[in-house]
Amino acid sequence: MSSNLAGRHVRTQTFSIIVTTVCFLLVALVLTGLMAHVVATMTRSANEIDDARANRAARASIAAFVSRLSATTTDNAVWDDAYKAISSAGAADWAYENWGKTSEDYPLYDGAIVIGPDRSSVVSAYGKGKPFEPRAFFGQAFFRQINTAADFEQAPVVNFIKSEKGIALIASQAIQPYDEEGELPKLSVLSFYKELNAEVLGTLSNEHELEGLRLAAAPEPGLLNTPITDMRGAVLGHLVWPSKAPGSAVFQQVYPYVAAATIILVLFLAGVLLVGASEARRLRQLAQAAIYEANHDSLSGLLNRNGLLSLLNELENSRTSPTKLYLIDLDGFKAVNDAWGHAVGDDLIRMVSNVLMSCHPEVVAAGRLGGDEFALVHVGSATCEEMEKTILALLAEPFKIDGRTIEVGASIGAAAHDGDIEALELLRRADMALYRAKANGRGQAIEYDPQLDRERQRIADLESLLKTAIGTGAIEAVFQPLVSASTGAVTGLEALARWRTEAGNVSPEIFIPLAERCGLIDALGVHMLRTSVSHAKNWPDLALSVNVSPVQLCNPEFAAEVISILQALDFDPKRLTLEITEGVLMTNPDQARRSIDQLKRVGIKFALDDFGCGYASIGALRQFGFDRMKIDRSLVSALDEGAKGADVLRATISLATALQIPVTAEGIENSRQAAILRDAGCDQLQGYLIGKPMSAGDISGKLREDAAA
Ligand code: C2E
Ligand code: CA
Ligand code: CA
Repeated sequence: MSSNLAGRHVRTQTFSIIVTTVCFLLVALVLTGLMAHVVATMTRSANEIDDARANRAARASIAAFVSRLSATTTDNAVWDDAYKAISSAGAADWAYENWGKTSEDYPLYDGAIVIGPDRSSVVSAYGKGKPFEPRAFFGQAFFRQINTAADFEQAPVVNFIKSEKGIALIASQAIQPYDEEGELPKLSVLSFYKELNAEVLGTLSNEHELEGLRLAAAPEPGLLNTPITDMRGAVLGHLVWPSKAPGSAVFQQVYPYVAAATIILVLFLAGVLLVGASEARRLRQLAQAAIYEANHDSLSGLLNRNGLLSLLNELENSRTSPTKLYLIDLDGFKAVNDAWGHAVGDDLIRMVSNVLMSCHPEVVAAGRLGGDEFALVHVGSATCEEMEKTILALLAEPFKIDGRTIEVGASIGAAAHDGDIEALELLRRADMALYRAKANGRGQAIEYDPQLDRERQRIADLESLLKTAIGTGAIEAVFQPLVSASTGAVTGLEALARWRTEAGNVSPEIFIPLAERCGLIDALGVHMLRTSVSHAKNWPDLALSVNVSPVQLCNPEFAAEVISILQALDFDPKRLTLEITEGVLMTNPDQARRSIDQLKRVGIKFALDDFGCGYASIGALRQFGFDRMKIDRSLVSALDEGAKGADVLRATISLATALQIPVTAEGIENSRQAAILRDAGCDQLQGYLIGKPMSAGDISGKLREDAAA
């Protein structure tokens, strides 16, 4: 998964966890809020309902107080005996005997007052059995009530009145006969009063379930109240009592459960929050790990290609220029792996990584792009040359791994960020330079130059031209004679490929390696074999040598293909020699051997080409069963340079002949060379002196001439 994808995936997951957690918390909070609201509303409503009841009860208690006193008054005022007695001279005594004396200790009233028909003279006034002065005790308000009450048939008038001792309820009614018809004279008025004292309040409180009922001058905060007014509506005081608050009482009872539920809910929510947070954190860590993994090479811990590109892009965006990129390829790493195994190879990669990371203070990052290819990003003033020298010198030092001393070198391709190029382009340029550095040989450093691009383009163009040339059969074969060293007679011909283009001839030294690199060599080889064999059928007495590239020999189908071509063209395999260079014997000896054995079985011979310019030993010649060895042209031309060359040649040739391997000398350009080589033991000669490569037609012509001669 790419770092972006991993990041996005985890971000989506984290987001959904957060959303889920938040939704859950919100739902839980809303539910909790609703429940709290319900409980609070129930509590408040219960309290309000009971408060309303208490208010009604308070008013009812006052009404009961009033009606009781009112009934007592009517019972005494509407009374024939009283009417008669109060109208008589002994009114005061009668009043005392019947009412004043009783007032001392009577539950229904505290005092009784009789006012004469003039509505102002006090006939009798006793409070708690003792005479008193009502005018002083109650003030003018009392007489206002008497005025209203004095009428015959008037129901008793009952009012609260402020007294010297506090508040009293007074009921007044005219003293009248029970059953009287006709006009009555002006009447005296009987008044009973009852103090609104603690005892009365206690009775009211008991009767109407108003606990804590008492009298107060003004409403008191936190207590319910109902006002006590006089006959004009003025407030004399308030009855106050505490609310029973049954809702609160119930709430108090359920409170422990509510509290427990709340604590459990809070703990649960906290748990959910914790789990959500830890899951989000875990995902974040996963994402970070995924991003790290996507950007780093696991073996070396350096940036990988992806990480390198991101860094280069970052640097480009922050304009931390000039950024220079070095691609470093180890020389000979494959050999280390092959020789010591992958564990040692891995150790070497790690050691090289460490060296590279700390190779220069201006290196901002190091990366491994795969296999043995590394990258360094450099921002600073050091020149490319300085950096390259440092890196090459450090990697030229031997590495010590498990007691082994391992030497590798490196090739470097460098590219500088110039102008507005993208990270990918910078990488491509460095890669291009590295490719060239490797092509130039070990230990080389090359800086990118647009010329490299042009060259690559040219090669790409050439590649496609070559492909068409092979496809259309435009590659021709020319033939160079091989002559017997002793007789000088032509014994064979070597087929050489020729490519003539509109722009001129392209040397096989160029197009053969090109064909090898771009995978065209098999097709080219088959084409050359077919062409040269078809021509050679015209020259039945001569052997035919055809060059084979090591790449072809490594193809497992090569042998079968050669055999089928020879069969198709009906060509005697014994006339054919395949020339191969030694390289293949080193790189893929097993496959080479299989191909060689298979072909030798049908009678095809093998010649080791270019002997003397590489590493092949004479032993290898034997081992692979070569039928012939061809001394390289460079050794032959070295004959002209001094005596030493001749000694080396002689020694080589005599070794080969001792092993009964015949030797061909190629590239003979003068008769001195020819003489030396003939004397040294070569049995076959080839070169411009004897004959240049010629077209098939020319060869046929020459053969006719020779036959005629
Ligand atoms: P090679 O197999 O060593 O071929 C001999 C080369 O030496 C030929 O070059 C030939 O023209 C040149 N030569 C021969 N005598 C003299 C001489 O006296 N003086 C000088 N200066 N040169 C001489 P050519 O044709 O350019 O081929 C170059 C190489 O290309 C060949 O070297 C061979 O390795 C490869 N090549 C050519 N044709 C083919 C082919 O069909 N298949 C493969 N795989 N390789 C081929
Ligand atoms: Ca050859
Ligand atoms: Ca050769």
